[in-house]
Amino acid sequence: MIDTILAIFSFLLGSCLASFGGVVAFRCPKGQSIVKPDSYCPSCHSEIKWYDNIPIVSYLILGGKCRNCKSKIGFFSFLSELLCGLLYLLAFLQFGVNWKTLILFLLFFLFVVIANIDYETHDIYDVTLVIFAVLALALALYKILAEGADVWSHVIGCVAGFGVFFLIKVVAKAIAKQEALGAGDVYLAGIAGAMLGGISLLFAVMVATVIGSIVELVRIKTSKEDVNPEIAFGPYLLLGFALMAIYGDALIELYQEVLL
Ligand SMILES: [Zn+2]
Repeated sequence: MIDTILAIFSFLLGSCLASFGGVVAFRCPKGQSIVKPDSYCPSCHSEIKWYDNIPIVSYLILGGKCRNCKSKIGFFSFLSELLCGLLYLLAFLQFGVNWKTLILFLLFFLFVVIANIDYETHDIYDVTLVIFAVLALALALYKILAEGADVWSHVIGCVAGFGVFFLIKVVAKAIAKQEALGAGDVYLAGIAGAMLGGISLLFAVMVATVIGSIVELVRIKTSKEDVNPEIAFGPYLLLGFALMAIYGDALIELYQEVLL
């Protein structure tokens, strides 16, 4: 019973924090306060009442449109609220009430902020990378000290993350003469490698590439307007990192059991 309540609480906490994270991401780059004014529609600037601002639910009731001007708003917020709620739920189900779960909750909140800023501005802020590095270090230390993870796996993950992504960035720029990856993506991969270890990082990048390719293909094929062909890979990477922060070790164990 208590577990069910905590599981539901985890989902609600994740989606509410993601909703707040979206506000932080939308306002901080513009130098606006995150508490005042109340939420407003970016199109018509009318105030969004509290009952139209309930995570996940309001988007579904309003059909993704502003009540006042009917312009389409909030799809990315809706998606991040749903995903962050699910990730909180999955982390709780996997690890229970635990320091690791707390670190993951903080981490996923940060991911929502980074993903929203990346989606809006195609930029990843240094301050968010620094916070990511601190949380990644905390999680890596927890895994090494409390769970007996191998230090070298995390060192290799860090070097491989930075190295491979830097190489992709340089080669892609030389061949395609355009930026395939931002510098921010290179830092994200390096820090995530230190956090996850080498093998989980590989899984995470594979998951991100598969999900990203499918979603972007569907988006380009179904969109009636001309879509910006430049895609922000950051949000997909973050989703891959989050999933592997929860399931990476379990996957490696499963892999070893099947093969050895
Ligand atoms: Zn509006």
